[in-house]
Amino acid sequence: MKKYVMPIIMLVVFETVAITLWLTKNNLFYLFNFSYIGLSISLGVFLYIKKYKYARRIVQLLVGLYMLVYLGLICNENMQIEGFWYYLFTGVFEAATIHYAVAKIFGPLIFGRGWCGYACWTAMVLDFLPYKVPKEPRRKIGWIRYITFAASLIFVAALFLAHVGSLERIMFWAFIIGNILYYTTGIILAFSFKDNRAFCKYICPITVFLKPMSYFSLIRLKCDKEKCISCGKCKRVCPMNVDVTDNSRKRKNGTECILCMECVKNCPKDAL
Ligand code: SF4
Ligand code: SF4
Ligand code: SF4
Repeated sequence: MKKYVMPIIMLVVFETVAITLWLTKNNLFYLFNFSYIGLSISLGVFLYIKKYKYARRIVQLLVGLYMLVYLGLICNENMQIEGFWYYLFTGVFEAATIHYAVAKIFGPLIFGRGWCGYACWTAMVLDFLPYKVPKEPRRKIGWIRYITFAASLIFVAALFLAHVGSLERIMFWAFIIGNILYYTTGIILAFSFKDNRAFCKYICPITVFLKPMSYFSLIRLKCDKEKCISCGKCKRVCPMNVDVTDNSRKRKNGTECILCMECVKNCPKDAL
């Protein structure tokens, strides 16, 4: 039973959030929403334990499509970063603000960048591209993420300052156009840099929240130095260029780990 502790912990964490929000906000949607996400993630972890090859991809599709199609397109909830700023400025702790608080700001203190590995609908598509392992060295252009982050904030702040009407409608179209831009840029970068996750490494504004919070993550991979033979395979298969053999929090690209488990699956000595 011990090996099933992790899916049970994930389920308990998400059910706690689901029930707390349902009761405090008096809204049944939160019970459904977070229970669905928690069940999907727990199912993925369970399938991974059972050594099912596509466990992570199944979670990505279950959660990513739910958020993109159901919440975004059908319910008109902008879960992009613009939606977060929008709800923050209106002072409403709903939809995108709750989503960001749980998945991208406070959640990473527990599960690091699990969002990026298992739930993001942008990466859900990018991970289908051919460059699962980066073919070129990492570039020093991560500063672009601060520009996209600032641009999203300035865009929404300008709408408020200019007292633009029909903000809900604008946010819906911002969601559509934003996603088209993300996918287009992500796919072009993946092929140009021969790296599926180039968008995540250099452009994505959400990493401005994710990286510092995941530095303190409770759930993180560790290397058993007694077993490790320093073969370097874990680093060669890592999509995010993490030096997972270094157990310190300052490990190279440590805040980039998306918990995809490729290093664990490929370690010949079960050292991770
Ligand atoms: S870095 Fe951004 S685009 Fe990439 S998986 Fe994380 S949230 Fe999604
Ligand atoms: S793959 Fe395993 S044995 Fe090889 S360096 Fe990484 S942790 Fe050590
Ligand atoms: S391969 Fe390992 S170190 Fe690299 S992102 Fe995946 S889980 Fe993290």
